[in-house]
Amino acid sequence: MHAPIGPGIHEPVPELPEAETIARQLHAGLAGAVVSSVRVQRADILHGDPRPLAAVIRRRRVEGVTRRAKRVQVQLDGGVMLVFRLGMSGRLTLVPRAAPVEPHTHVCIRFRARGDELRFRDPRRFGGVWCLSGREAYAGRRMGEVGPEPLTLEQSAFAAILKDRRRSIKSLLLDQTLIAGLGNIYCDEALFAAGIHPLTPAGALDGPSAQRLLRAIKRTLNRAIDANGSTLSDYRRPDGLDGSYQFSHKVYGRLGEPCRRCRVPIEKLTIAGRTTHLCPVCQVGRR
Ligand SMILES: [Zn+2]
Repeated sequence: MHAPIGPGIHEPVPELPEAETIARQLHAGLAGAVVSSVRVQRADILHGDPRPLAAVIRRRRVEGVTRRAKRVQVQLDGGVMLVFRLGMSGRLTLVPRAAPVEPHTHVCIRFRARGDELRFRDPRRFGGVWCLSGREAYAGRRMGEVGPEPLTLEQSAFAAILKDRRRSIKSLLLDQTLIAGLGNIYCDEALFAAGIHPLTPAGALDGPSAQRLLRAIKRTLNRAIDANGSTLSDYRRPDGLDGSYQFSHKVYGRLGEPCRRCRVPIEKLTIAGRTTHLCPVCQVGRR
């Protein structure tokens, strides 16, 4: 079901940096725009407010576009929020109205006095659009619980998340209910940067290791955001261009290639059902 990315690797993207890139670009392109019309091609990808989408969002102004976890949130006036879950293949693009509509484009939103439109396309339909109004918009209750944002996570809160956990650090980092937005790519990259073996029990990380790991997570995510994310299979920026962080990956997708630090070939393991890339020399177990 997943898109093949490189030989034998199947990865859902985007992760946090890709969603952040999309949110920033849409904020720059859409803030202040007023919704004029809406076309919904597939009603079953819509959730939340049961009224027709056009009835809820027409004539509303875009106050801003933000990100929470891996979701892109379009805040409209009147307390209405459109939340786009990108799933594995979801794409949000801002394109000229005259551009050919690609297959699997489920929602198109036009704005007053503008020649472009926002399109949501999701061939595999693991994503969706949530229209939240009133109290829902703030609680986001219908979206499921997600943990705190890693970029603003304090060291003490991170230590509390790790404490007494016997599961591997890799599987803990992938758990969206504990920390939001981290996926396979950036977990592997951050664990390599911190020199921590992905199978290390989370609760066994000592203070300095946990500190190094949280710093590595933030640095890895920030660098990826600066590079507009990683383009692997389906992810593109809203302007249709590719991200470039995939060229900076140190372990992810580099099976058998020499470690950039010690030259030993990169290995792989399966953890929590996910292919995990690591350097067997640079990343050590319990410290
Ligand atoms: Zn190495």
